[in-house]
Amino acid sequence: MTHETSKSEALFEFASRFMVAGVSGSARMNAALGRPVYLTHGDGCRLYDVDGKCYLDYNLSHGASFLGHNHPGVRKAIQQALDMGVICAYETEHHSRVAETLCRLIPCAEQVRFANSGSEATFSALRVARAVTGRNKILKFEGHFHGLHDAVVWNAHGPARDVFPTYPYVPPQVESAGVSPQMADLVLVIPWNDPAAIRQALREHGDELAAVICEPVNYNSGCICPAPGLLELLRAETAQRGILLVFDEVLSSFRMAAGGAQEYYKVTPDLCTLAKAVANGLPLAVVAGKREFMQVLSPVGPAAHSGTYSGHLFAVLAALASLREITQPGFYDRIFANADRLYGGLTALFAKHGVPARVQGLGARFGIYFGLTHEVKAYQDAARIDGALAVRFIRECFARGVYFHNYGTMALGHHGFSAAHTPGDIDETLNRVEDVLKAMRKA
Ligand code: PLP
Repeated sequence: MTHETSKSEALFEFASRFMVAGVSGSARMNAALGRPVYLTHGDGCRLYDVDGKCYLDYNLSHGASFLGHNHPGVRKAIQQALDMGVICAYETEHHSRVAETLCRLIPCAEQVRFANSGSEATFSALRVARAVTGRNKILKFEGHFHGLHDAVVWNAHGPARDVFPTYPYVPPQVESAGVSPQMADLVLVIPWNDPAAIRQALREHGDELAAVICEPVNYNSGCICPAPGLLELLRAETAQRGILLVFDEVLSSFRMAAGGAQEYYKVTPDLCTLAKAVANGLPLAVVAGKREFMQVLSPVGPAAHSGTYSGHLFAVLAALASLREITQPGFYDRIFANADRLYGGLTALFAKHGVPARVQGLGARFGIYFGLTHEVKAYQDAARIDGALAVRFIRECFARGVYFHNYGTMALGHHGFSAAHTPGDIDETLNRVEDVLKAMRKA
């Protein structure tokens, strides 16, 4: 324990007595540090901890604080909700304004339903797909994460393999205890970026499938973009077989375009899920899709969905403020310019200091694949990263005031920058990273 982190360590010890593992959620733990960070506050692209240290933040609340912490528009929205009396579980004019804005921005959105978390949104989207199709199974991709509920907690973080006798089907591997083994009968898992696997799986099982769900950009495995034509293939194959195509844009939404990956790649799914950046750190999630499908939701349709906190006023007003910000002229020009500066800068530094690492990003989120230098196109490539090198890098960065999150040995994880990061902040980061790499080389 260093002197600098003593207050954090003491808090962690105290928290662990009353909170399971000392955390509010398992991903709150930074596996490289062996504890969570304990903050006093955040501002813009910076975090401040209880030990008086300041960090340039490259996690951004797992991607939720896309505009940066303490955003003035979001502060104003929260004040407005306070002034309105924190009314909860009632509709206001603001709810429909957020819905209308989303329907304007997101290509597949003709109607929306609000929820509180990404997990709840994917749960409800798959329920919609089952209700629409009358079928039970879903198809998902290896390395794609859609939350922790029973239908999707499969094969998001599996190990690398050398042989694949069951091709194209990856044996379903549940990633939690307490899930009924019978749930395995309801999920098919295949590799991402493999058109032949998609064609075969849909040919063999298309008539049993309610939905194909994917992260259109697989940020949960760092950043694996879809191969050219892949999303188009998914669109055509699912449409032909009456399967609903669900883009889980919980992490990808707003990173590279106001309409998310579906706008960027010009492929429109039947349904999508949004969360994280939509309300810049306040708990709002969205199921959006074609009207004919969304109409299966209660109370007009038979598929149940409601929640006391669904569309909470704080989050709805924060979403209005966030959506206003990302639709400002020039917003994405700045995001892409900073992306080039950061990803190009990191790539050059790794090469200069002889640290094998591949940086891949699209828009405001990225992955660093330690131990790899070629383009990562498949989860099985990504799963071969040098996890120990990643941990060393993240620890050294932490010591120099740059915060990257480490999700644990089995999780590749993802990083990102915010709209509050200036070119100067990125240059400062690169200077600190250069010190990190010099220290790593010496060691
Ligand atoms: N889907 C994707 C693509 C995600 O990245 C996440 C969370 O990281 C989820 C779903 C689950 O969202 P939440 O943590 O809000 O439940």
